[in-house]
Amino acid sequence: MSQRRIYLDNNASAPVRPEVIEIMTEVMLEGGNPSSVHKSGRGARARLDTARAHVAELVNALPPEVIFTSGGTEASDLAINGVAPANSLDEIVMTVIEHPAVRASASMSGKPITELPVTLDGMVDLKAAEKVFDRLAADGKTAFVCVMLANNETGVLQPVQEIGQMIRDRKIGLLHCDAVQAAGKVPVDAMLLGADTLALSSHKIGGPQGVGALIVREGVAISPRIAGGGQEMGRRSGTENVAGVAGFGKAAEVAVEHLATYANLARVRDRLETELRQSANDIRIFGEGTARLPNTCCFAAPGVSAETALMFLDLAGIEVSTGSACSSGKVAQNYVLSAMGACDAERNAALRVSLGWRSEETDVERFLEVWNGHIDQMKGF
Ligand code: PLP
Repeated sequence: MSQRRIYLDNNASAPVRPEVIEIMTEVMLEGGNPSSVHKSGRGARARLDTARAHVAELVNALPPEVIFTSGGTEASDLAINGVAPANSLDEIVMTVIEHPAVRASASMSGKPITELPVTLDGMVDLKAAEKVFDRLAADGKTAFVCVMLANNETGVLQPVQEIGQMIRDRKIGLLHCDAVQAAGKVPVDAMLLGADTLALSSHKIGGPQGVGALIVREGVAISPRIAGGGQEMGRRSGTENVAGVAGFGKAAEVAVEHLATYANLARVRDRLETELRQSANDIRIFGEGTARLPNTCCFAAPGVSAETALMFLDLAGIEVSTGSACSSGKVAQNYVLSAMGACDAERNAALRVSLGWRSEETDVERFLEVWNGHIDQMKGF
């Protein structure tokens, strides 16, 4: 019997919203280069302006603070290797659970790196952060501090605002926030967070892949990583991906309108977790005791290998993840869960279920049906 596939991997990429496909089709049919002065060019420029306003609104930024990029990875690279050097910051400080986009960009920077640990709940350890910031202040050093807003694996929300305040109190540098997983899922206010730069990605919120943005607060210096025709006010050259950007703008607009509906996913996620726990009481739900995104459940049922579970679920038409999409393919050591004190058995069993704008409660019911129906078989595999 063929069944509709159930997609529960929205933290990897969310399905593209129909409104987004519609606007992208319109824009591609219109054509035009936003740098041209004729009518088509002006039309393309207007498309960029509209999208910029919507993306700015998504995170309470100003439109000129938005620099469109090829995605969240390029946005964090531009922050770490464009903004940090332009402000002559001495070091990089980042949480140990940052996405590879931040970790690899930090390694490329050539600057000394200090990692901030997390608690067993997966939240950055504020006491440890305070110590590092006090050391920087005492040594007269500055840092580019990178703290993600929501972790991609566990959904755990980080105390970015508190860290922003600590940085400002000590005047020890600037704060970069990777808000790729948080934007469009929970309210994000760049101003309130005190972030000097903020990375966003379109494909996590129902927009197309290959588009994102870096928000750079007014007055913060930046050196471009890509030079050329001077697009994006000289901060990121190259003819803009007008259709992609328009799609991102539409996804941002719709996400803002649907933030309250998105919050309701927490009830469905909580039901999933309650019923999973009924099926096996030794299950560990990562970050369970702390504030998390409403859509994410990362859990380990010791004795059920994640690879085996993924295969059984896939055969039953259900798509989940064993780790972040960017690091899967190879089932690498999960550094996020290691940092949360997960043992080998838990790491090998960890699965991530991430709901999205198209998810329905029946999707979770089907997941539970397949999970409970195969648990003994999966354990014996
Ligand atoms: N940051 C986080 C937290 C992510 O989850 C991802 C993608 O999974 C990225 C950055 C990279 O974004 P992109 O795929 O748009 O390059």
